[in-house]
Amino acid sequence: NQLNFSGGPGALPESVLRQLQEAIHAVPEVGLSILGISHRSDWFAAVVAELQSNIRGLLGLPPSYHVLFLQGGATQQFSMVPMALLAGRSRPADYLQTGYWSGKALPEARREGPVRVVWSGQACGFGRLPRDEELDFASDAAYLHYVSNETVEGLQFHRVIGRDEVPRVCDMSSDFLSAPGEFGRFSMIYAHAQKNIGPSGVTVVVLKDGLLDGAPDAMPGFLDYRRQIEAGSIFNTPPVFAIYAVLLVTRWLRDDVGGLAAMGGINAAKARLLYRALDRADGFYRPRAAVPDRSTMNVAFTLASPELEKRFLAEAEDAGFSGLAGHRSVGGIRASIYNGLQLGAVEKLVGFMDDYRRRHR
Ligand code: PLP
Repeated sequence: NQLNFSGGPGALPESVLRQLQEAIHAVPEVGLSILGISHRSDWFAAVVAELQSNIRGLLGLPPSYHVLFLQGGATQQFSMVPMALLAGRSRPADYLQTGYWSGKALPEARREGPVRVVWSGQACGFGRLPRDEELDFASDAAYLHYVSNETVEGLQFHRVIGRDEVPRVCDMSSDFLSAPGEFGRFSMIYAHAQKNIGPSGVTVVVLKDGLLDGAPDAMPGFLDYRRQIEAGSIFNTPPVFAIYAVLLVTRWLRDDVGGLAAMGGINAAKARLLYRALDRADGFYRPRAAVPDRSTMNVAFTLASPELEKRFLAEAEDAGFSGLAGHRSVGGIRASIYNGLQLGAVEKLVGFMDDYRRRHR
C-alpha cells in the first residue's frame, strides 16, 4: 500500500479502519450495516452523545461548550460564522489573511458585514505569520477570525492571538486534535474531519454558550447554529458513517495514543525529522515557511527547478509515497503528516529524500 502524505483526506489509524470495515458489514450491537442504520436510532444517539463528550474531554472544555457535527465542510463555516456573528452588526470583524484558506474566508464574511483585515501576508508571499508587534486588534471587534494552521503554505500559529475580550473564532481544520492547546480561550473552533480525525463529510463545530446571543432572527434553519444545537446535530439526516468514524478516532486518541499531549509529542517528532532533512546544509531542499511558524502538520518545500520537483514527485510515487504534490495554487512539494500517519512512514520518506538529494545535488 501507498503511504498517505496528502494534504487531505489524511490517513486513518489501522485499528480504526478495521473497525470501520466490520461496521460496514454489521455494527455488532445492532446487527445492521452502518450504511443502513437510522440516524434516529438509539444507537446513533449514543454515538453522538459519546462523541460530544470525547471531544470536550480531549479539548479540556466544560459542558457549557456546544459540540456540533455539521455538513458543508469548513467552507460552509466561512459563511455560517459571519451570518451568525456579523450580519446586521455595526462593528467590523477582525480577520487575518495568513494564507490560501484564511483568504477564502474573507469574501464570505464581507458579504455579511464590515471586515477589517488586521494583517495580510500577501506581500511576503505567505512565507511567514505575523509577530505580536504587527498585530493591532480592535478591542470592540465583533469577533476575530483566523486559521490556526495554513494547510497550503505550511504555516502554524504556535500561540493564541487576539484580545481576550473579543470572541476568537478559529478554523482548526488542519491541526484539530493534533496537540494540546488553550482551547478554552476560543469562543468557537471549527474543523472538518478529513485531516486528522476522520473521512470527509462532517465538520466539528465547538462553540461557547452565549456566543449566539444577538444572532439575526431570520436565518435558514440549516445554517442557524441555534437550530442545530436544539436538534442535537440531527436537524436533517447527518453523515452517520463519517460521525461514527470520528468517534472511533477520538477513542483511539484517548485510549491507544494516550491523549493530546502524547499525540502532540508524536506529531512534533515527525515534523522534526522532516525539517531536519530539509535543513541539511547544502540547501538542496528549500523550506517555504519561516522557522518560528513552521507547521507540524504540513511540511512545504521547493527544489531548485521545476524539473527536479517533477522528478522528485514521480520517483516518490513509484517508491510508495502518495500525495506529495504541493497545493495546486502554489505547486512545489508538501508532506502532510496528520495524526493517522505513523512515525515510521516519515522515517521512510526522509530516507527517500536523503537518497534523492545525494543523487541529484
Ligand atoms: N480551511 C482549511 C484550513 C483547509 O485546509 C481547508 C481545506 O483543505 C478548508 C478550510 C476547506 O475545507 P472543506 O473542503 O471541508 O470545505
